[in-house]
Amino acid sequence: MFSDTIAAISTAVGEGGIAIIRVSGPDAVQEVERIFNSKNKLTQVASHTVHYGHIVDPETRENLEEVLVTVMRAPRSFTTEDVVEISAHGGVISVKRVMDLLLQLNIRLAEPGEFTKRAFLNGRIDLSQAEGVIDLIRSKSDRAFSVALKQVEGSLSRKINELRHILVETLAHIEVNIDYPEHDVESLTSAFIREKSKLVMDEIDKLLKTAQEGKILREGITTAIVGRPNVGKSSLLNTLAQDNRAIVTDIPGTTRDVIEEFVTINNIPLKLLDTAGIRETMDVVEQIGVERSKHAVSEADLILLVLNASEPLHQDELELMEQIRGRQCIVIMNKMDLPSQLDLDILHRYYPDELIVPMSVKAEEGIDRLEEAISNLFFSGQIEGGDLTYVSNVRHIALLKKSKQSLQDAYDAAEQFIPIDMIQIDVRLAWEQLSEILGEAVGDSLIDQIFSQFCLGK
Ligand code: GDP
Ligand code: ZN
Repeated sequence: MFSDTIAAISTAVGEGGIAIIRVSGPDAVQEVERIFNSKNKLTQVASHTVHYGHIVDPETRENLEEVLVTVMRAPRSFTTEDVVEISAHGGVISVKRVMDLLLQLNIRLAEPGEFTKRAFLNGRIDLSQAEGVIDLIRSKSDRAFSVALKQVEGSLSRKINELRHILVETLAHIEVNIDYPEHDVESLTSAFIREKSKLVMDEIDKLLKTAQEGKILREGITTAIVGRPNVGKSSLLNTLAQDNRAIVTDIPGTTRDVIEEFVTINNIPLKLLDTAGIRETMDVVEQIGVERSKHAVSEADLILLVLNASEPLHQDELELMEQIRGRQCIVIMNKMDLPSQLDLDILHRYYPDELIVPMSVKAEEGIDRLEEAISNLFFSGQIEGGDLTYVSNVRHIALLKKSKQSLQDAYDAAEQFIPIDMIQIDVRLAWEQLSEILGEAVGDSLIDQIFSQFCLGK
């Protein structure tokens, strides 16, 4: 438990209807009480109640701000500590006045993520749940949000705990055998170890399979729009961005070279790469030139190849199709409002019908089909089920892979009748690696690194 009390503005800074300042720690209630003028004394009110009043300067007794104050007593709060939330009028001045007063009391400014860090260190949530909170804040689509919310609620933790439970049972079984070697159950134990390791490895595999989808939900599908000049790439990009623009993000450190445009289609976030200098025209390819477009293509998870249907296929286009063979690609036959000149037979040599989308960006026709093709390509319907747990965090993925490898080692060793106590080491290792996902036995520096990704006030 922490002995100091922290405070931060928990809503986005700037003008808004209201702003919330959160205070957490052993002195939260009594300290806020010193600057709060209301009918009720905060130190006497029931937990989880809201109180109207004024923030007053403790020296001059001047009313500084009209507020609502919510009291949540330990341990029934986000941090498990006493928490006071002050809802003030939105706006920079109002919030600053209240914060300045609070920081003159026995309260210090919270570090970014410190509330969530306390929730973790006080045992209210595990590390994977805390990491889910970051994802929640950063999610750019409804679906990414739902997945992150599940993680915060502990869906991944539950799954990992099930697997750890199986491994603990296995370890117990091994322990018994080591203690009673005269029982001649060596081969039985070996079979047991193989069965259980296989079971857990299969479950880890299922989780790892969700990683690709999880990554997409989190980071978006990196999408390159390619094609010859004048086929309608810019027009397509503009249309997609207008209908679906979600958020424009500048990634620190790379702002000069690459700006990422996020667009959400059927709840699937697409990350359209946009290079410096071509932002005004929003054109991914024509100004990059052939060489650089090859690079954009090599990085992309999805390629949208735009063709002009009113012209025959060009040699460049055939070469491009050859070059991107085997990649995830959707062919857009644009300008279908004009008489078609495209040779479909050639196209079909490269792409099945469902990946060829006739379109007229100008007449706004075919956009639905494009959106459908993208959904089908990436989620083939299975994601809709909803109760899948997704793994998308690189730290979790790395630990799952390590744990699986340890189990594979245990499995192989058991098969070769290597002494049981040797196998025990691998099973224990697998268990520890799973536990690390939940934040058990992880070092301070890792914890600091994870929580430093949070914004202030969370
Ligand atoms: P880019 O060079 O590939 O980026 O192509 P643009 O988006 O700049 O479009 C080139 C020209 O084609 C513009 O004059 C557009 O108005 C026109 N264009 C784009 N889409 C269509 C379409 O579906 N039908 C027709 N007829 N013209 C289009
Ligand atoms: Zn263009």
